[in-house]
Amino acid sequence: MRFDLEFENSYIPYSQTLAHDRRWRCMPQKKTKKLLVTGSTGQIGSELTLALRKKYGGDNVIAVGHQRKPSDTLLNSGPFEIVDVGNKESLQKIVEKYDVDTIYHLAALLSATGEQNPQLAWNLNMGSLYNILELARERGLTRIFWPSSIAVFGPTTPRNNTPQETIMIPGTMYGVTKVAGELLCNYYSAKYGVDVRGLRYPGIISSETPPGGGTTDYAVEIYYEAIKKKRYTCFVREDTVLPMMYMPDCLKSTIDLMEADPSKVKRHDSYNVAGMSFSAGELAAEITKHIPEFKCNYEPDFRQKIADSWPMSIDDSQARRDWGWKPSYNLTTMTKDMIQKLSKRFADGKL
Ligand code: NAD
Repeated sequence: MRFDLEFENSYIPYSQTLAHDRRWRCMPQKKTKKLLVTGSTGQIGSELTLALRKKYGGDNVIAVGHQRKPSDTLLNSGPFEIVDVGNKESLQKIVEKYDVDTIYHLAALLSATGEQNPQLAWNLNMGSLYNILELARERGLTRIFWPSSIAVFGPTTPRNNTPQETIMIPGTMYGVTKVAGELLCNYYSAKYGVDVRGLRYPGIISSETPPGGGTTDYAVEIYYEAIKKKRYTCFVREDTVLPMMYMPDCLKSTIDLMEADPSKVKRHDSYNVAGMSFSAGELAAEITKHIPEFKCNYEPDFRQKIADSWPMSIDDSQARRDWGWKPSYNLTTMTKDMIQKLSKRFADGKL
């Protein structure tokens, strides 16, 4: 049996672990987990890093950035390193320097930007995931998190209540890297026992860091523009329905999956997770309840084709069954919270 597999329950509090698992009595204990987050300056990484630092302590969560400027909060709350995730040696140096045992690998090129430069999308998304899985294999890292996406699905996939297991023939290079990435994660789990866990995130909506080039970015931009200008030109049609999730649910699903007892995690490719589904028109109407003078018009561009190839709603029953996933926010509660947070930032001159 591999030594590192003995650490697989390290996410369970120490006292409970001793009570529940006799194996631990004779195993050397590693007291402090050291986590590394790639893509820590991105839309999700910036908030996930802070949530992990709050939970595990600032010094135990190493933020890795690249070209995007980190916020002062990110810089001041724990270690920050600049690394190109395509370079395995640089990554390895940081893993060794901090004795990292868990990696949240969020750095990627997203769907819309990826379609502008498919070669870079393949090289960055696949190369970096391969580097991280290899590091996990070679160094016996405890656990890896890697997000997949609803972009694994394509125009021939059933679009309503899209099942966990179904047709996955995406029309974008981003989607191709997510399908291949899922297969690679599954392979490293089966072949080498790497405990890699993943979620197929839907579009993520958040109030802190703007998104970095995805097809669902309109669902974030619309809130910013509604607060700042009371007008928004949406790049998809009014009747475009896509699955979305509010950031607090995104963070919760990620941390819940990573903390789930290994016996509950039945898949190592990626789980479907859902928050809510709505059309661009329904979103605009919900915002109008708070900002009556808000006007939205629709000028679809190349991203419409991508949106039309993705699911409208997601069946996440396996995630609910296996490790207890349950979202907290719907369109109404998310919109209330987004408007409140962004209005405050606008009033403080920070938007
Ligand atoms: P983002 O574009 O906001 O951030 C990506 C980060 O990757 C950036 O901060 C960038 O600095 C970093 N990066 C790019 N090239 C790099 C390199 N060579 N070396 C190191 N870092 C590099 O992305 P996000 O929205 O936060 O997404 C995070 C993850 O979640 C990605 O894997 C993405 O595919 C996935 N995802 C996101 C969404 C969403 O709606 N945001 C939906 C589905 C899946």
